[in-house]
Amino acid sequence: MTSGNIRLVLLGAPGAGKGTQSEGISKSYNIPHISTGDIMRKAVADKTELGLKIKSIMDSGALVPDAMVIDVIRARFAKPDCQNGFLLDGFPRTVAQAEALDSMLKELSTPLTHIIELDVPDNILIERLLGRGKASGRSDDTKEVIESRLKTYHEQTAPVANFYSKSNRLTKISGTASVETISKNINDILKKGVGA
Ligand code: AMP
Repeated sequence: MTSGNIRLVLLGAPGAGKGTQSEGISKSYNIPHISTGDIMRKAVADKTELGLKIKSIMDSGALVPDAMVIDVIRARFAKPDCQNGFLLDGFPRTVAQAEALDSMLKELSTPLTHIIELDVPDNILIERLLGRGKASGRSDDTKEVIESRLKTYHEQTAPVANFYSKSNRLTKISGTASVETISKNINDILKKGVGA
């Protein structure tokens, strides 16, 4: 498997399957899977300064302020494993984050190579998230918080797909097929090569 130099953003609502797909892509292409949700859940669990500030925001299903999340990403990009490329999962979640990401990567002369959106209707998302909440005990996978996260998604994150679509960088695929089929579809897009 060639490692290539893939710098991928995986977009999609909570429960669209970004995390599941990210695991496989990260292994196949030998690139780090960067999930801002995972990084910030760890900060909360470790009770770091950042974690203490964001716990109640995360528990409510709202978004952590852009400046804090952008700092998290900037620090993550500075780690040596990002030299090979990366996969972003759960970031950017606002147009301001997408713009900050573009300018950070411009400075590094390493623009995004692929932006893929997993499209899943709300009723299926709710079913999946309720199931995940039962299985994992994630504190934000309860019915009330799920509804709030989907509202946040439609209001603040859906415009991010438009932002990329306007500059012809977005590839949208259905996220309702089997994990294997979606994985094959993503691989086909990634194999087409950088910027294809
Ligand atoms: P996730 O695991 O990606 O669903 O993220 C869980 C929670 O972390 C979200 O509901 C937000 O509170 C917070 N979060 C994760 N990524 C971001 C981001 N890029 N911008 C703002 N908040 C975020």
